[in-house]
Amino acid sequence: MAFSLTQRSGSQYRGRFAPSPSGLLHFGSLIAALASYLDAKANQGLWLVRIEDIDPPREQLGASKEILKTLESYGLYWDESVLYQSTQSALYDQILAELQEQSLSYHCQCTRANIKAIGGIYQGHCRALSLPEQGAATRIINQFGVYQYQDLIQGTVQCDIALAKEDFIIKRKDGLYAYQLAVVVDDIFQGISHVIRGCDLLEPTARQLTLFKTLDIKSPQYGHFPLAVTDQGYKLSKQNKAPAIDIEDPRPSLIQALAFLGQNPPSELRESNVEEIIAWAVSHWNINKIKKCREITL
Ligand SMILES: [Zn+2]
Repeated sequence: MAFSLTQRSGSQYRGRFAPSPSGLLHFGSLIAALASYLDAKANQGLWLVRIEDIDPPREQLGASKEILKTLESYGLYWDESVLYQSTQSALYDQILAELQEQSLSYHCQCTRANIKAIGGIYQGHCRALSLPEQGAATRIINQFGVYQYQDLIQGTVQCDIALAKEDFIIKRKDGLYAYQLAVVVDDIFQGISHVIRGCDLLEPTARQLTLFKTLDIKSPQYGHFPLAVTDQGYKLSKQNKAPAIDIEDPRPSLIQALAFLGQNPPSELRESNVEEIIAWAVSHWNINKIKKCREITL
């Protein structure tokens, strides 16, 4: 039986950058924006922006607007209109209903403590219980357990098998849509062909591949780049209060991000303007120069 989502036809490269508006762009998110943009443009592709605003308590007022303004000041102009996940609820609900109708999901009332007590991996306890939706999370019946895939940057990625086989959550107990569900539905909705993002998402990618298979849609190709870390070895993130990148003079951060991505920007590029830096980066883009995640020294 089919779902309300169809495979986009055509072979054009369609990449995306999908920030959450929980804060302003920092150096780590600049790398994600830049790498996904350059790979799209070097492949004559389109680059879309999606704002992942489905977790209201974590959002910062005005951050979406600031993120878009920052991208523009960095010369990263998106194609098509920006997609806000907050406008996608009807589609998420539809897909959740279809999964339920096809007996591909179930409700689960287990607590985090219950699962921790059995070793941290969910064992399908509620699968056959036909529990009501009220106060329960929704889990997918994981028929595929994808744990290995070919990554454009990392080569063969092998994930934890037990974790990859778990019936994971697609709608949370608190009523919020799970990240995995929203991302996959939107990647299909936007016809995304390539996802270039950080190595913190290597494991979630396996789950997303399982979800694509369940929905019977060809998955995008994935490429994961190493994460930028602080002097203390922590990932640069909004939670770690990484400083926002400079919107007044983007050039130093742009050059630094290109160097991080292994693109060896020549020193004379420092004298160029933003447009020239981006043009140089598109024409010299080589994804093979990005380091493998395991090569990062903390
Ligand atoms: Zn359960």
